Amino acid sequence: MSPDADVIVVGAGPAGSSAAAVLASRGIRVLLLDRAKFPRDKPCGDYCNPGAVRLLRHLGSISTLPTAEAIPISGLSVYAQDGSRFAAAFPAGPGLLVPRLRLDAALLAHAVRAGAVVHEGMGVDAVHIRAEAVEVRTASNRWLSARLLIAADGAHSAIARSLGRLTVPARGRYTVGAYFSGLPRTTPEGELHLGPDLYCGVAHFGGGVANVCMALPRERWRRGGPQQVFDAALGTLPVLADAMANARRESAFRCSGPVGFAARDAVAARVLLIGDAAGHLEPITGQGIFLALYSAILAADVASDALGANDFSQRRLSVYARRRAREIVGKALASRLLQRLAFHRQLTPLLVRRLNRRAQLASELLGVTGDVLPPTGILSPAYLARLLL
Ligand SMILES: Cc1cc2nc3c(=O)[nH]c(=O)nc-3n(C[C@H](O)[C@H](O)[C@H](O)COP(=O)(O)OP(=O)(O)OC[C@H]3O[C@@H](n4cnc5c(N)ncnc54)[C@H](O)[C@@H]3O)c2cc1C
Repeated sequence: MSPDADVIVVGAGPAGSSAAAVLASRGIRVLLLDRAKFPRDKPCGDYCNPGAVRLLRHLGSISTLPTAEAIPISGLSVYAQDGSRFAAAFPAGPGLLVPRLRLDAALLAHAVRAGAVVHEGMGVDAVHIRAEAVEVRTASNRWLSARLLIAADGAHSAIARSLGRLTVPARGRYTVGAYFSGLPRTTPEGELHLGPDLYCGVAHFGGGVANVCMALPRERWRRGGPQQVFDAALGTLPVLADAMANARRESAFRCSGPVGFAARDAVAARVLLIGDAAGHLEPITGQGIFLALYSAILAADVASDALGANDFSQRRLSVYARRRAREIVGKALASRLLQRLAFHRQLTPLLVRRLNRRAQLASELLGVTGDVLPPTGILSPAYLARLLL
């Protein structure tokens, strides 16, 4: 019996929709399944870094974003707990702030236009890899088959779990965020506020509306529900607390977790894992959407070759895992280093003031976290000496 599709993609976030769009545009029969109905929201800082913007352009999907809700930002302002701040411009083009409700719906529509067949409201809970095909079981107990499966079902991937590969960040933070009105926007940049082992991103959408999204250690969740947890954390971020003095919450809180670094084996015979399903970085540097798009493009190329050769062995597909690892290893190291430096009571304000005085150092840093410069730049002894000594 012939399979239902050449490729089944599970998960229509930025990774899944982008992989589906590339494959379908090459004439490959793609089924794209998501348990949600779109437009659907997702806990996020709503920040596409400059590297992600480049990839959206490469994918041809940037022009599909609603211009009124895709706000270019030229750089980032970072505040330490004592109120000191550095602001720097991105070294190579702007980033974008786009509500995930809009971004993900636009990327899904792009996949449909490219020819992918989409089933919304269709969750997948199991995978069965056979010699001649791969099958997924939907929540309504229907089996669908394909020559190749791309798992793009996010950080808590049911497919990674089904393959025995679900890893969870051991001491990951938990997040809480919402949209607020009444926040003054004082700079044309995104904002990152650093507190005691916590951080908060602010994305201003104009008219005083902003997405305020925090990540906090698990212990802080013992203090009550999202409102109490949010308020207690806000009390440790003086600059933001001042700015939010007259703010009004306009949406329900969105919570998630644990977030943090998770690495997974991204390949099995007939299966590629992409985006957060393949592992992710702590969202403090805002690189998740870049990595979702990057891994989607890589996977689509490897999938096309495998379909052409009719070879879906783990050996053939592991070229994807190797290429992805090459991209991600340095980024993960840089992310860990930055977390070491971001939450120190005495050192962090000192570094923030130093970065404010040395525009070149700050710009190199944003180039790396913005995924337009290689991480080796800020991991080099020369950079660290200029920053720390
Ligand atoms: C609080 C927070 C803030 C963040 N802020 C930023 C930021 O500002 N910038 C940035 O770049 N990154 C940020 N990230 C990371 C970013 O959100 C992710 O890296 C990105 O969404 C990954 O995309 P994805 O397509 O892999 O997965 P997702 O966007 O998570 O999409 C997965 C899709 O799979 C579907 N799905 C899940 N399970 C199933 C199933 N069993 N069957 C069928 N469908 C399923 C879901 O409905 C969803 O549509 C943040 C993360 C968090 C948690």
